[in-house]
Amino acid sequence: MDDATPDLSRYYEVAKSATRCAVFTGAGVSAESGMPTFRGEDGLWKEYRAEELATPEAFARNPGLVYEWYDYRRGIVAGVEPNAGHEALARAEDLFEEFTLITQNVDGLHQQAGSSNVIELHGNIRRDRCNVCGHHREEGEARECACGGPYRPDVVWFGEALPVGAMEEAFRAVATADLVFTAGTSTQVYPAAQIPYSAKEYGAWVVEVNPEPTPFTPLADLSVRGPSGEWLPLLLDPAVIRPDRDTR
Ligand code: NAD
Repeated sequence: MDDATPDLSRYYEVAKSATRCAVFTGAGVSAESGMPTFRGEDGLWKEYRAEELATPEAFARNPGLVYEWYDYRRGIVAGVEPNAGHEALARAEDLFEEFTLITQNVDGLHQQAGSSNVIELHGNIRRDRCNVCGHHREEGEARECACGGPYRPDVVWFGEALPVGAMEEAFRAVATADLVFTAGTSTQVYPAAQIPYSAKEYGAWVVEVNPEPTPFTPLADLSVRGPSGEWLPLLLDPAVIRPDRDTR
């Protein structure tokens, strides 16, 4: 754990009485599994930044290059496992009357860890979608759909709209939550980045987990500086926040 450990006593009071929890995650939650973030030191691929590849314009200009980058990223996804942070979030579904996990991640690691109710704001890299007719399929070799349109990863690229209803569902969850976590996200990619701000406006107690400060940090009720694989298991330890429950 980084720096001086913050005073967690108020957090534990809130967490023990919270009945509705929402969690907003970003690329940092998968960093300890070996997935590169976009903004970290390992975020570059060849000489390109993600913003130059994950766009409809890049795909129209040079689909081969975009496929090559996604093949590289899918290769990483295939070789990684959920970490202790994903696992703590999967267990946390049983600790609250309502629990909603909202992710910007496209790697599917939350589901792999056992989370059952995940709002995927930016799609999933393990699926393809036809760029013309919208047909979905598990990722595959052929680049062309039966309609003749090109398949692409079923992810939201910079400048594209989010899946219909996903933001509404996320806002609904944070509007009714008494405890909200924002973990592993730089809170720089909009509109998703509005979610923790919206949680504050609706009166939730918001905890940020990130080794680095973010634009949201000054608004967080608690900001812990460190990796989510260490902090989420600690903050969501059933033995501490649900001491009366038999969690064996
Ligand atoms: P980002 O790359 O902008 O920021 C990552 C954040 O994680 C940073 O603030 C960094 O300080 C923090 N971080 C790094 N290591 C961490 C750790 N061990 N524990 C906790 N936090 C850690 O990511 P973003 O905010 O998710 O936004 C970028 C976009 O990139 C998202 O839309 C997402 O769809 C996409 N993306 C997804 C993946 C993935 O699915 N794993 C990976 C890269 C990018």
